[in-house]
Amino acid sequence: MSDILIIEDDQRIRERLTKALAERGHSVDARKTGFEGLSTAVEHQPDVIILDLGLPDVDGAELLKMIRAVSLTPVIIATARTDETAIVALLDAGADDYVVKPFSVDQLEARIRAVLRRSASKRASGPTVVGGLIIDLEGRVASLDGRVLDLSRKEFDLLAHLAERSGEVVSKRELLAEVWREPYGGSDSTVDVHLSWLRKKLGETAAEPRYLRTVFGVGVKLVDPSA
Ligand code: CA
Repeated sequence: MSDILIIEDDQRIRERLTKALAERGHSVDARKTGFEGLSTAVEHQPDVIILDLGLPDVDGAELLKMIRAVSLTPVIIATARTDETAIVALLDAGADDYVVKPFSVDQLEARIRAVLRRSASKRASGPTVVGGLIIDLEGRVASLDGRVLDLSRKEFDLLAHLAERSGEVVSKRELLAEVWREPYGGSDSTVDVHLSWLRKKLGETAAEPRYLRTVFGVGVKLVDPSA
């Protein structure tokens, strides 16, 4: 049985789902606004979140990003939209599954079981954590101290690679090979430029580094500055 958080402003739907899921033995919390839902998600760390996209206080897609920044709990989107592009964008943004309204409790429960099975196997590997940095390789989302970082594709790949090897010095040659797929070519300055952009997004400078430490003539390493 699971701890389920429902974020839904429609009172009828909220009460129907709460009752039906509780009758099936789940422990259910329900919130009617996005921000109440977000704080409950942080405080209670439910097993799964059912997120209505049409909320009065915050756009569902924005709320999904905020949840993803602070929690790895699987999110099932409940949407009245059947717009495939929007649904694909939400799945890319870190939603685990979706149901289209109106849906049955049986269907929702089956989706819940499926995401919980997947997240159990994903959690076995889990996100990469270095100090206040959380790097979710599956969702391709990185956050620092609970704030999602706005990274380009290459910046994310660079950070993810350094995080996998955190505490070790990684050469620019290796970064060119692994991140840029240029094992024999490419230029160190490509790496340098991306490192400086990444550094800026992490809120640090080369003169006062925190996470990103350059080892002159050797390469760069990602460290936990509090360690
Ligand atoms: Ca709604």
